[in-house]
Amino acid sequence: MDLGLKGKVAAITGGSVGIGLAIARAFAEEGVHLALCARNEDRLQDECHRIEKEFGVHVLGVRADVSKVEDIEAFTTAIHATFGGVDILINNAGTGSEEKILTAPDERWQYYWDLHVMAAVRLSRALAPGMANRGGGVILNNASICATQPLYYEPIYNTTKAALVMFSKCLANELIPMKIRVNVVNPGLVMTPDWVKTAKLLTEGKETTWEQYLENIARENAPIGRFATPEEIANLFVFLASDKASYCVGSTYYIDGGWLKVTT
Ligand code: NDP
Repeated sequence: MDLGLKGKVAAITGGSVGIGLAIARAFAEEGVHLALCARNEDRLQDECHRIEKEFGVHVLGVRADVSKVEDIEAFTTAIHATFGGVDILINNAGTGSEEKILTAPDERWQYYWDLHVMAAVRLSRALAPGMANRGGGVILNNASICATQPLYYEPIYNTTKAALVMFSKCLANELIPMKIRVNVVNPGLVMTPDWVKTAKLLTEGKETTWEQYLENIARENAPIGRFATPEEIANLFVFLASDKASYCVGSTYYIDGGWLKVTT
């Protein structure tokens, strides 16, 4: 199937590992040029060079912490200088939290608000006008099943991801006249290096291996009985970014192996 993405430009936050990297590689395979950002510059540049070599597309890598206004400005300035703008924006960077509401300080709430919500607000504000000038575009936000079905240990993650879902709906309404389609994706369990690292830490010196620990999590939560691969999630992003998804706008797409316990 020709997705019609060849020659387009996509910006992806957190494109150096996990889901963001899988999306970057899947776009590159379709001939999409990339602007990626992350905090760890070495890992980011390594992946940028690997993608360029493997797929022959242009890849810009910018060290940026998207929870910071000045880093977002540096990212968008570099994008405009290199590509003149983008056709696709993927707000992907994010991470889990662990706290109790009664003891978590304001600064912690502010950090996740900036990372999960304001990064998407600021990048959309900076890049959407250019998308409109290019004839339209696509903005996809990576939230989480936790936006709807909270995990007990991460109330700030659940709350800020729920806000990202609502932001996506509001942005979709505002940008439809500019021919920009906005949607949000809510993944369930996705096997990224971070899960492996956590599993190894939690099983150190225990009888259960880290592999068994992760298998148990999958069995207990996802009816499909396993984690998704980052590539399985990336496939949905690539489809939603393509013209084949031209009627998809203002929606929330779950991709969770049946984990969501209600209909939406
Ligand atoms: P990873 O930890 O594997 O990758 C996160 C990426 O984001 C890395 O490239 C990381 O690079 C970057 N990043 C993290 N913080 C920042 C920051 N402040 N500024 C810029 N870049 C940043 O995460 P996943 O692939 O697992 O998750 C990606 C998204 O998917 C997240 O928003 C997450 O909430 C969501 N998600 C993940 C699920 C899962 O099971 N894995 C399930 C549901 C949703 P660096 O550290 O160098 O900055």
